[in-house]
Amino acid sequence: MKERRVIIAGNWKMHKTNPEAEELARGLKEKVTPREGVSMILFPPYTALERVGRVIRDSFIELGAQNIFYEKEGAFTGEVSAEMVKSAGCRYVIVGHSERRKYFQEDDEIVNKKVKSAILSGLIPLICVGETLEEREAGKEREVVSRQLREALEGIEGEVVIAYEPVWAIGTGKTATPETAQEMHAYIRGILEELWGEKGRKVSILYGGSVKPSNIDSLMGEEEIDGVLVGGASLDVESFARIYSFR
Ligand code: PEP
Repeated sequence: MKERRVIIAGNWKMHKTNPEAEELARGLKEKVTPREGVSMILFPPYTALERVGRVIRDSFIELGAQNIFYEKEGAFTGEVSAEMVKSAGCRYVIVGHSERRKYFQEDDEIVNKKVKSAILSGLIPLICVGETLEEREAGKEREVVSRQLREALEGIEGEVVIAYEPVWAIGTGKTATPETAQEMHAYIRGILEELWGEKGRKVSILYGGSVKPSNIDSLMGEEEIDGVLVGGASLDVESFARIYSFR
């Protein structure tokens, strides 16, 4: 039994039309047996939030959004606020995913604003940090993760979840070994304790990057790995259900 709440989160990214999203959520609800202390959170695209929310209402499965804009409202065509996703039934939001940092130029300052906006609206931000391959090869992985984490949490009080996602492991089929992930998670834990004292011990730290049924058990065997953020393998009922029932 883990010391902290375990979270198995599925980031559907830009996948699933509304009927497909409903089918996946329904399949998971029917297939998966809830486990004490283990949460399941689904992050469908915005368009499917309400529909998935309706399917999982009255079940143990929870709902989150993949992104928000940090302003409350206004002339920001195409953007969606924290209050909006909350009103669509979300309790969580992913902030700082490496795909947002890479394709949409989100820097640490923007990530921090989004974290603040999420908390102000009563959402729990799932904050992603992680180094690129070049940064790891240059021996800068701790420096990068430390900066991303400290800047994301600048001026923040309130509940958060952290996901360590080495960019070189996302969608590439290359998973960090459990030992490499554990090492970085322990480093992140140290920063959280330095910033927040005892409260820092209670924050769940998830691993993300090519998690699949074949590697979930060894990853979850590590003490500081409190769960996983899953992309590709969360798009299929069988594989995500197997990940949820890790041993
Ligand atoms: C992710 O989307 O955060 C992710 C880790 O993707 P994948 O599992 O496909 O590597």
